[in-house]
Amino acid sequence: MKGKKILVVDDSADIRNLLAKQILGPAGYDVLTANDGALGLKAARRFSPDLLIVDYEMPHLTGLELLDALKQDGFDIPAILITGSSSEELVIRAMRAGVRDYLVKPFEDGALRAAVRRVLGKAKPEVSAAVLERRLRELHTINKIAKVLTSQLDLGQVLNRVVEAAVHLTEAEEGLLMLLDEATGELYIRAAKNFEASMAQNFRLKVSDSLAGEAMRNRMPITLSSANALKITTAYLVKDLIYVPLVLRGKAIGVLGVDNRYINRSFDRDHLRLLTALADYAVIAISNARIYAQTRSERDTLDAMFRHIGDVVILVDAENHIVVCNPAACRAFDIDVPDPKGQKLDVVIPHQNVLDLFAEECEDGKDYAGEIVLENGQTLSAHLSNIDGMGRVVVMQDISRLKELDRVKSDFVSMVSHDLRSPLTAILGYVELIDRVGEVNDAQKEFVDRIIASVQSITALISDLLALSRIEAGLDIERKPTSIPDILHYAVDAERQCMETRQQALRLDISEPLPEVLGNPLRLKQMMINLLENAIKYTPEKGEISIRARQNGDVVIIEVSDTGIGIPPTEQTRIFEKFYRAKNISVQSGTGLGLSIVQSIVKQHDGRVWVNSRVGEGSTFTVVLPAHLGDDA
Ligand code: ADP
Repeated sequence: MKGKKILVVDDSADIRNLLAKQILGPAGYDVLTANDGALGLKAARRFSPDLLIVDYEMPHLTGLELLDALKQDGFDIPAILITGSSSEELVIRAMRAGVRDYLVKPFEDGALRAAVRRVLGKAKPEVSAAVLERRLRELHTINKIAKVLTSQLDLGQVLNRVVEAAVHLTEAEEGLLMLLDEATGELYIRAAKNFEASMAQNFRLKVSDSLAGEAMRNRMPITLSSANALKITTAYLVKDLIYVPLVLRGKAIGVLGVDNRYINRSFDRDHLRLLTALADYAVIAISNARIYAQTRSERDTLDAMFRHIGDVVILVDAENHIVVCNPAACRAFDIDVPDPKGQKLDVVIPHQNVLDLFAEECEDGKDYAGEIVLENGQTLSAHLSNIDGMGRVVVMQDISRLKELDRVKSDFVSMVSHDLRSPLTAILGYVELIDRVGEVNDAQKEFVDRIIASVQSITALISDLLALSRIEAGLDIERKPTSIPDILHYAVDAERQCMETRQQALRLDISEPLPEVLGNPLRLKQMMINLLENAIKYTPEKGEISIRARQNGDVVIIEVSDTGIGIPPTEQTRIFEKFYRAKNISVQSGTGLGLSIVQSIVKQHDGRVWVNSRVGEGSTFTVVLPAHLGDDA
């Protein structure tokens, strides 16, 4: 074989020199070189070498194009291809172009010499077929791993397949995949091939003090080939090994390794390349498994929460198909559909009040709140919210107990108020009799007046409490068509004296004709008197009070305005609460119940009430009530 003519065609001067001067020349071959494909083609035609070593990637003419051109000229020169990659497609093309063997950069001297000997020494088909077959087998195995990776969710199985493939492709005696235990800083075996089970279970390596740990710390593979046995841990002796770190988002999380303990067979760069590819697959599998485990754990937590909370949770999509319907919802609405998910809301929960609730509009991204009374008497407080891109969710809480407590409280208040009235009437009666039984001096008269004022204020409070509890309990159910001008005149007449005393001007502006309102005249009068009394009370002397009433479509609007002290913005929503009195008032008299009574009466009449006010300028209370438009309206 010595003295055979070899033509090296490569655009890299380093590789030409290495092959010609360092490896093949000294081995006795007659070596010619060419800098690119076109020159290589000329030289091959002229010198007809025994072997061509061509680079795949070259300007103007690739290695394979050069070989094709020679073939067309009738030359049949055996060739070795040098490439930077070993894709399945390239291997097939190279085979078709007549390449007998190929080397992937970087290659070892020994590998090149062996390839040259093989190609020059043997008949063409067998050698290249064997090498190419090996490459194809590798690719096939790696492809299989990729498929397992995308089809398997069980991390253990994927990692076992990776280690099996590593052992199979490197023809190693054994292989292992170790992961870092963050708590102890040790590596433990997560998957292994040909390891004794007991050893694999107890195997622990310190990252700070082991070869595998070194591969992790430097994030670089380690290849050891030793004539002498290496002592890696006290119980573990190997002859050759490769450790490749598993790096996830820049952080080493473990090591993939293969080794030989008994036979002497060194690992080469091809083995390292294969193991690196497999390590990449293992990292993807671990990353996927971690993301999957995290997502599953978050979903399980949410599931458990929905299953165990006592509140009803129902989520529907844009087409009203149920997405979530928790067990509390199934209990509350007697749902016996085995799997409500994906079914239409009205099929699963045919309760009209629930369907009405889901039909409500949530204005300006705000929740809609309402109450639902079940057939068994339970009352649920419901909150409806829109969830962008998902649908609508209703959360319901059982407030039956709170309702019951509220009723008990109202009963109690009404009973106590009622029982207090009689003794108060008696006190007032006797106090008023005092000056009739004999002369009282000035001091005594003042004390008597104070007693009378206090008793009157308690009596007012009790009257308000009684009125409120009656209204809230819905006892005034009687409704009849009621004239709003009559109500307004009644209230004005009742308060006229008071306004005159305070020299306040009154403007009454009623836009006739005004439709009647279906209501309870007694309560509507009380509502107007409360608003008018407040206007008088919180407006200084000589101020102005105006009352306006008009129709707007199917409602009647009543406005009571004053030029009084006004209400600070932060308190405007709170003044309708029971016993709430704004901070800016100087007037002592008052129970803090007047506006609560107004609001309860308005609600009972399906109306709305609100206030507009500016401190120091005045306030306007607006009441809107549905008009009673008659049957032919
Ligand atoms: P009160 O017995 O204190 O008048 P209300 O429930 O009628 O109780 O009113 C609650 C609070 O609202 C009052 O204490 C006062 O602070 C404020 N308020 C009510 N009406 C007016 C008004 N016309 N002008 C200014 N403040 C008012």
